[in-house]
Amino acid sequence: MKNTENPVVSIHYTLTNKAGEKLDSSVGGEPLTYIHGAGNIIPGLEKALSETTVGDKLTVTVEPEDTYGHRNDEQTQTVGKEMFEGIDNIEVGMQFQADSSSGPAIVTVTEVNEDTITIDGNHPLAGEQLTFDVEVMEIRSATETEMEHGHIHGSGCNHD
Ligand code: ZN
Repeated sequence: MKNTENPVVSIHYTLTNKAGEKLDSSVGGEPLTYIHGAGNIIPGLEKALSETTVGDKLTVTVEPEDTYGHRNDEQTQTVGKEMFEGIDNIEVGMQFQADSSSGPAIVTVTEVNEDTITIDGNHPLAGEQLTFDVEVMEIRSATETEMEHGHIHGSGCNHD
């Protein structure tokens, strides 16, 4: 079966950054399963997986504009420590969920001073060129309900 007309595709992937550091991998665990064409995965990767078949292996390098966008310095801000009242030992690298104008966002602590804390609302992978080594494991048709919901059901779905 070819990867056309909204199939459900399972892939194994290994993600590396430009420096060649391994950031994430599904190999040895469950493959990543998504509905092709539904925008479930980053656009650059989805595009590269069009017209693939089971067993295909490909290496896809995507620029920031097709992944998590470029870094925006305006999303970095310094706030008073009292904003984090009740949390002991704030350390660089800690992540929190915050409300932003565009909905919930993950912010990362980038600097801790005596009275202030600097947080960064950019996606941790923003501005990075990413390379995916992908193997297509399985392709099946999406069910009607899956098409309605825009995501796959079965393992990995958290509702009935
Ligand atoms: Zn659903």
